[in-house]
Amino acid sequence: MAVTPFDPSHTPIPGPGTSVLVVGLGTSGYWSARHTARLGARVTVTEARPDAELDRDQLAELRGMGVRLETGGHREETFLHTDVIVVSPGVPLDTPLLAMARNRRIPVMGELELASRFIHEPMIAVTGTNGKSTVTALMGHILETAGHTVFVGGNIGTPLMAYAARGGADYLVVEVSSFQLDTIERFHPMVSIILNISPDHLDRYPDYGAYIASKLKIFQNQGAGDYLIINDQDPVLKALRPSSGLHTLRYGLRPKKGRDAFVRGRTIASGLKEKPLERFSIQGFVLPGSHNLENLLGAILAAQALGVEHDTIQKSFATFTGLPHRLEYAGTLNGVSFYNDSKATNVDAAAKAIQSFEGSLILIAGGRHKGADYAPLITAASGRVKGVVLLGEATERLARSLGQQIPFQVARGMKEAVFKAFSLATRGDVVLLAPACASFDMFSDYTHRGRVFKESVDRLMASSRTSGGDGDSQFGVING
Ligand code: ADP
Repeated sequence: MAVTPFDPSHTPIPGPGTSVLVVGLGTSGYWSARHTARLGARVTVTEARPDAELDRDQLAELRGMGVRLETGGHREETFLHTDVIVVSPGVPLDTPLLAMARNRRIPVMGELELASRFIHEPMIAVTGTNGKSTVTALMGHILETAGHTVFVGGNIGTPLMAYAARGGADYLVVEVSSFQLDTIERFHPMVSIILNISPDHLDRYPDYGAYIASKLKIFQNQGAGDYLIINDQDPVLKALRPSSGLHTLRYGLRPKKGRDAFVRGRTIASGLKEKPLERFSIQGFVLPGSHNLENLLGAILAAQALGVEHDTIQKSFATFTGLPHRLEYAGTLNGVSFYNDSKATNVDAAAKAIQSFEGSLILIAGGRHKGADYAPLITAASGRVKGVVLLGEATERLARSLGQQIPFQVARGMKEAVFKAFSLATRGDVVLLAPACASFDMFSDYTHRGRVFKESVDRLMASSRTSGGDGDSQFGVING
C-alpha cells in the first residue's frame, strides 16, 4: 500500500500488504505488534532499550512471528518507510522522529485508536484529570454485578489492544488518558464520562487550553443515541453544549436545574431525562471524600444509561472497596492514622485528598514537578494541615509556595518522611501521603512510591512495638 496522506478517514487498518511501525515495546506496543502481525501486516518495532533490558520471551515470540525488531535506538529511515506508525501513550508525539514522519504525511496512530478499529462491542470510556481508574473500576464492578462479561482496561491495567486480539466481552470499560485521546480519529464510545479537568501534564502540552482540547476529544465521534456524562461542577465541562442528538447527562453534588444526578442528605437522586429520578442510599459506599461521591454520581448515570436495574446499582457500589494508592488506609499507631494517596500526582488530587479528612493532618508531599501552580494545594491545606514533610525534586518550589503559612520539614527519603511526619503528629491526626507531584524522581512509578510508604509505616509500627509502643527510639520519635 502506498503511503497514505495524513487524513483520518484514510489511515489504513493494518493488515496484509500494510507496513506498520510500532514505537516502543511496552505492554501496548507488544500487543499492537503481535496483533497486526497476526493480521498479516509487515511489522517493525523500534525500541530505545537494548535487547538485554527487554523481555526475552516476548522478543523471541515476536521474532518468531516475523516481526522485525530494531532495539537499542531508533533509525530515521525506519520512521520514513512505513505506511502507518503506532505509538504507545507513553511516547510524546512531538519527538523529532515522529514530527518528521508526520511532516511527510505518514499517519501516526495511537494504540487506543488502533484497537478501536477492531472492536465492535459497546464501550464506556472514562476520562478526566482525576478519578479515571476509580470510576473505570467501579463501572466494571457494576456491570459485572449485573451479570455481564466485562473487559476493564485501557490506560489502567490491560491495554485495549490485548482485548482486540481476543474479544469476548459484552461491554468494555476503558480508561482513557489525554495522551491516548491526542491520536484518536474514529474511536467511538457508546458512553463517555468526563470527570473533571484541572491543570496537569503541563510539561507535555504547550498550554492548559491544549490539554483541555485533548480531553474533549473523547466525544468527537459520538452522535445520536450515545451518552456523554459530565461533571456539572467543573467550570470547563459545565459550559459544554454538545451537538443535539447526543444525550448529555450532568451531575453535581447539590441539586440544581439541569442536573440529572445529585446528592440530597444521605441519598443520591439520579435518572435519565425521560425517566423519573431513582433514589440510592449512600450508606455502605466506603470511598472517602466528596470527590468520590462525584465519581459515584457519574458511574450511576452511566449504569442507568446502559439499562442496569436500580437494585443492582445499589448493591454493586456498596460492595466496591476502591483501588490501592487512592486514599488507601495504611494503619494506625498511637491514635495517628496513615493514608496512602500516592496516586495524587497532581495538585487537584492532593487538594481533594486533604479535603477528605475532618481532623488535622500532617502532609507528605513532593516528587517531580509537573508544571502546575501549588497555590490551590496551599489553600486546601490552610487550617487543616498543621505540618508538611517535603520530599524529592519539587522540595524547593513547594517550600517557596508554603512560605511562612505552614511549617515544613525536609526528608531525604520516604522512610525518613514517614518518621518525621509521625513525630509531628498527635493522637487523632492523620498522616497523609498526597504528593501533588510525579514519582519518577525517586521511584519507578506511583505504585512503587505507595508501597515504600506503606512499608515505612509498617517499619515505624514494628520499631514502636520493639521500643515499648510509644514511638521509635532509634529515630527519636516521640508521640503523644
Ligand atoms: P486517575 O486514573 O485519573 O489518575 P485515580 O482514580 O487513579 O484517577 O485517582 C487519582 C487521584 O485522584 C487519587 O489521589 C484519588 O484520590 C484522586 N481522585 C479520585 N477521584 C477524584 C476526583 N473526582 N476529583 C479529584 N481527585 C480525585
